[in-house]
Amino acid sequence: MLRVAVIGSGPSGCYTAQGLVQQDSTVFVDVLDRLPCPYGLVRYGVAPDHEKIKSLQNNLRTVLEHERVRFLGGVQVGGPGGLPTARLRELYHAVVYCVGAATDRHLGIPGEELPGSWSATEFVSWYSAHPDAADDGFVRGARSAVVIGVGNVAVDVTRMLARGAAELSPTDMPQAALSALAASRVTDIHMVGRRGPSQARFTTKELRELGALPDTDVVVDPEELALDPACADPSALSAPQRRNVEVLRGWAAAPPTGGRRRIGLRFFLRPVELLAEGGRVGAVRFERTVPDGQGGVTGTGRYEDIEAQLVLRSVGYRGVPLEGLPFDAGLGTVPHREGRVLRDGAIAPGEYVAGWIKRGPTGVIGTNRPCAKQTVTSLLEDAPVLARKQVPEDPVTVLRSAGVAPVEWAGWQAIERAEAELGASLGRTVVKLPDWESLLAAARATTS
Ligand code: NAP
Repeated sequence: MLRVAVIGSGPSGCYTAQGLVQQDSTVFVDVLDRLPCPYGLVRYGVAPDHEKIKSLQNNLRTVLEHERVRFLGGVQVGGPGGLPTARLRELYHAVVYCVGAATDRHLGIPGEELPGSWSATEFVSWYSAHPDAADDGFVRGARSAVVIGVGNVAVDVTRMLARGAAELSPTDMPQAALSALAASRVTDIHMVGRRGPSQARFTTKELRELGALPDTDVVVDPEELALDPACADPSALSAPQRRNVEVLRGWAAAPPTGGRRRIGLRFFLRPVELLAEGGRVGAVRFERTVPDGQGGVTGTGRYEDIEAQLVLRSVGYRGVPLEGLPFDAGLGTVPHREGRVLRDGAIAPGEYVAGWIKRGPTGVIGTNRPCAKQTVTSLLEDAPVLARKQVPEDPVTVLRSAGVAPVEWAGWQAIERAEAELGASLGRTVVKLPDWESLLAAARATTS
């Protein structure tokens, strides 16, 4: 028998657990998560209106319900009061860290910390009911919003700012976020890239959704498209880039319909400062850039201010170091060889990584499958040596005696029931519980 702990129950953790139990009938996996709820970014990152992607939870559920897999929620690994990684290694033959990229990148420009300026991650956490999210009036008093960055997260937050109550109500969004977005007076959303349209990171499917939003015009400046030499020569573009440019061209040529909201897609503008007005952000100053001929851009010394009472920087996630694990601060990942953790360049027996903490915050959910597969292959190759280590018969008994009280699968199911009941009481379907207290109360009340 091989006992493996997988840390993190998002897609990479679940795919790792699945690979392990499917490929080796002697493996038993405990999937530990800091939160009492499973599924990581599928629950707390995928936008609530992306129901099809959210339904991936059903696939991940079958993994966590496998007879040789246990979900242990509410267990913090590392950090103050958390289970030390060294202790974890004593309890299991192997540990796979699938902890993702838990923080967001900063711009490093003046005014970034002004009230009204947030990371997209904070905004996403709020409308996704993450229990650590701040409930902080993101859209209150705002007419114009600037989203910095042109990746899929930027598209998500832009779309959520433009959605009305009728479209949000059927989602599982928490009630407070729904009420706030329903009352939002934001009419102008500017999504701004520092490079050209052909270099945007969003995918065409996600981009097209902006054009399907009710009562909303998508505005693209033909002059900004013309600035990008690659747009004039589509043969130089990859198929996905070409599709993006075609969609943008269509919007640039379309006359406005006079919709209540406008989404402006802007390019070749580099943020240089957030400007204050009345003690909070009032505008973002951008420098006009031009292509440098090598895929990058250079500044022109010309500036443009875009009004914004809400600024969301959406410039990528970043991994954070986990106490007791090596960390490459430059890459924001754990050094590894084919998923095996490297300490000072040498393989650390019994320690593995998968997902964003292994390869950085890139790719879609499905990218985690081959990533997890590589790690699983490495671990199972090492299994004969790992199995020689003496570990306690049941790590959960040891955890409990050390005062750790995991939320097990029945506790999570109780949370699901509480969310369905809350939804029914509000005349909606499922409505997520937004704070630690209500999540833990639901898990405890129904399991006792
Ligand atoms: P991303 O795809 O890496 O995009 C980051 C954006 O920020 C880029 O446009 C980048 O521009 C820009 N940026 C970075 N530093 C900047 C700076 N200092 N100033 C101005 N702009 C800056 O990151 P993401 O949107 O957070 O997405 C992370 C991953 O999750 C991606 O793989 C994404 O596809 C995935 N995701 C997928 C979905 C979906 O499938 N529906 C939804 C959400 C996220 P440069 O290119 O110039 O660096």
